[in-house]
Amino acid sequence: MARRLLVVSAHAADFVWRAGGAIATVTRAGGQALVVALSYGERGESGELWAQPAQTVDRVKAIRHEEASRAAEMLGASFHCLDWGDYPLEAGREATEQLAALLREWAPDVILTHPERDPFNPDHPVAYQATERARLLASGSGVASAFQTAPPAEVLAFEPHQSELCGFSPTTFLDITPVFPLKQRAMEAVASQRYLVAYYTAMAERRANHARRISGDRTIQYAEAFQRLLPQVVRELWTRTWQNWRGWGWPPCTRRRGAPAWWRGPGSKWSPGAGRRGGPARSGAVRMTTSWSTRSWSGSAPARYSCSPCRTPPPWPW
Ligand SMILES: [Zn+2]
Repeated sequence: MARRLLVVSAHAADFVWRAGGAIATVTRAGGQALVVALSYGERGESGELWAQPAQTVDRVKAIRHEEASRAAEMLGASFHCLDWGDYPLEAGREATEQLAALLREWAPDVILTHPERDPFNPDHPVAYQATERARLLASGSGVASAFQTAPPAEVLAFEPHQSELCGFSPTTFLDITPVFPLKQRAMEAVASQRYLVAYYTAMAERRANHARRISGDRTIQYAEAFQRLLPQVVRELWTRTWQNWRGWGWPPCTRRRGAPAWWRGPGSKWSPGAGRRGGPARSGAVRMTTSWSTRSWSGSAPARYSCSPCRTPPPWPW
């Protein structure tokens, strides 16, 4: 099922730096992404445009719209600006209801927005508050007869500019390595804030370092950090994903670059059909030796955990 992502951005381009990789990840997997900017950031985040002589608010807004729309398109998302004005951004009753109506209509699976605090920006916390109020209005229970509701969504804050000073503590790292070239192009499309490209590239590299440390997956080169604002409901504590077993250094696919010789065929250290402790082969049983342990499993892996480029099933049944 195609997933729907909603990104609520206080200013026109906030989403590019903080969630560009997440957006591209969703859309590349066949999902849909909508970016809603509450303002163009025409006063507070368009300094480079105001350096041009005889500049006007309308022109600044038009340029910001063009830049943000192009960046969103590169990431596979739609861009919509509510144009509430910035510095200060204000979200009264009417504005909140407008956002709630949008949430009901779009019915996202995941909502990304700013964290609750930002001691250096008056608008980012307002965007958080507006999103939270709209989400609660759109997902209220027991009022089905009063107004339409949207299904519950997962809610995460994307990483702010000065993480620690905003009380941001990551709970989720997203590997954006495969889509980073797209994010880079989208960042470069925002010419009015080009000075941020190097900053957020460095941040993605730093977060990748943390993600590698946590997962053991040495292939992660770029990552985005998020903080869950609602607890996650799971059926098991170990999330069984491609990243998990890939991170343990067991390449699943003989065609995958770097697949070790022992994985490539009969007679190698690992071979399908070998029984436990070298005993008689059983159908579907596997035995694998890694550098630090020997593990055995039997059964076959579900296709959904197969190698995404070539559909080869992974070497151990979940
Ligand atoms: Zn902003």
